[in-house]
Amino acid sequence: MEILTKKPSTKGPAEMFTGDVWFDVIAQGSEPSRMRVNMVRFAPGARTAWHCHAVGQTLHVTEGIGLVQSRGGDVVVMRPGDTIWTPPGEWHWHGAAPDHFMSHLAMWEGPAEGQGPESEWGEHVTDEECNAR
Ligand code: MN
Repeated sequence: MEILTKKPSTKGPAEMFTGDVWFDVIAQGSEPSRMRVNMVRFAPGARTAWHCHAVGQTLHVTEGIGLVQSRGGDVVVMRPGDTIWTPPGEWHWHGAAPDHFMSHLAMWEGPAEGQGPESEWGEHVTDEECNAR
């Protein structure tokens, strides 16, 4: 058994996020595990850019009110207790509602040996896209 002391929080880089987003690494598996778990905290209106994950991603909202959208779909409200699965390669974004903080756990898998990147990142999400609901 090992008790891991908390590492410093990391600011989400501006290339991948709009607004203030901070994450804490909860778990990062060592090979053969590729487990990745982050606690991610979004300030009101903050959000990821459009992106997708090679083997999908599970989000679990722990606090606040969030928004999530898959490419071509509606902007959907997510609340504490909600779990959202985005399948492999499905482009999406997630973030806080404009007037609420939001925290979620993000669970995905790191890159497999000899395969491509675990996530692919695209353009930022505009205010118009966020407000289209
Ligand atoms: Mn994602």
